[in-house]
Amino acid sequence: MFESLSNRLSSVFDRLRGRGALSETDVLEAMREVRLALLEADVALPVVKDFVTKVRERAVGVEVLRSVSPGQQVIKIVNDVLIEQLGGEGAVPLNINVPAPVPVLMVGLQGSGKTTTAGKIALMLRTKERKRVLLASLDTQRPAAQLQLAQLAERAEVSSLPIVQGQTPVQIAVRAMDAGRREGFDIVILDTAGRLSIDEELMDEVKAIRAATNPAETLLVVDAMTGQDAVNTARAFNEAVGVTGIVMTRMDGDARGGAALSMRAITGAPIKLTGSGEKLDAMEAFHPERVAGRILG
Ligand code: GDP
Repeated sequence: MFESLSNRLSSVFDRLRGRGALSETDVLEAMREVRLALLEADVALPVVKDFVTKVRERAVGVEVLRSVSPGQQVIKIVNDVLIEQLGGEGAVPLNINVPAPVPVLMVGLQGSGKTTTAGKIALMLRTKERKRVLLASLDTQRPAAQLQLAQLAERAEVSSLPIVQGQTPVQIAVRAMDAGRREGFDIVILDTAGRLSIDEELMDEVKAIRAATNPAETLLVVDAMTGQDAVNTARAFNEAVGVTGIVMTRMDGDARGGAALSMRAITGAPIKLTGSGEKLDAMEAFHPERVAGRILG
C-alpha cells in the first residue's frame, strides 16, 4: 500500500529539493502534481482539495520561499498537513478504561474482516494488556459465524460465549454481558452480523444492541481494498449509529491508500487499528506520523 503514491510524491519532492530558490509558481506547480498523485491514489476529492489548499496557504508565505532551504520547508509542510489529515500525532488507543466488563461492539459489512478482527483484538488485549476477554457472536443469520468466532477464540486462547440457538442478537448481547459480570471478564467483545450492504434493518439491530449494552467502543471494520466505498460505508455507519473508532483491514493488500487518507477527514472517526494479514497477530495501532513517513519516504 502507498507505494505508487510514495513514488510519485518522491519525484515531485526530488525536484523541489534540487532547487536553491523557489518561486510561488514552483510551489503551485508542485502542488498540482501532489493533487494528481492524491487523486490517483483514490483519495476523496474534498480531502484532496483541502490538503492542497492548506499546504499552499502555509507554503507560499515569504518566510518559506526566502528561507535557506525552501524545498525542504515545503516538504515539511506537506508532512505536517498529511499527519493532521491522518488524525494528528500519536495513535488513538482503545477506550477500555471503564469499569469491567467493558463492552466492545464490532460492526461492519460482511467480508470486511470483522470476525477475524474481533479475534485479533481479543489476542492483543489478552497478551499485551493482560485482560480476560470473552468473545460473543451475535450473528444469528449465519450459524457458521458463531462457530467461526468460537474457533478464533480458541486460537487466541480466550473464552467464547456458549452458543444457544433461538436467541435474538440483543438477547445474546445481554447474556454475554451477564456472563462477563458473573465470571469476572475484563472485556466482552460483541461481534455483530455483517450484511452485504448497509440497510435499515442492520442499523436498527446495531442500535438495539447499543441500547442494551452501552458499549465503550463501537468499532467499525472496513476493508482498505474497497477504497472510497470503505469511506462511504464508514460515513453511513457513523451517521446512523455513531462509531468510536475504525479498524482498516487488508493494509497488506495493494490498495492505493486513498481510504486510509480520506477516512478521518470524511467521517471524523479515528482509525485506531489496521489489519495486515490473516494471522491473529497481524494487527497494528495506527500511527499517523509513521504512515506519513511511509508515504513521504
Ligand atoms: P467478516 O465477514 O467481516 O467477519 O470477515 P472475516 O473475518 O470472516 O474475514 C474474511 C476474510 O478476510 C478471511 O479470509 C480473513 O482471513 C481475511 N482477512 C481479515 N483481515 C485481513 C487482513 O488484514 N489482511 C488480509 N490479507 N486478510 C484479512
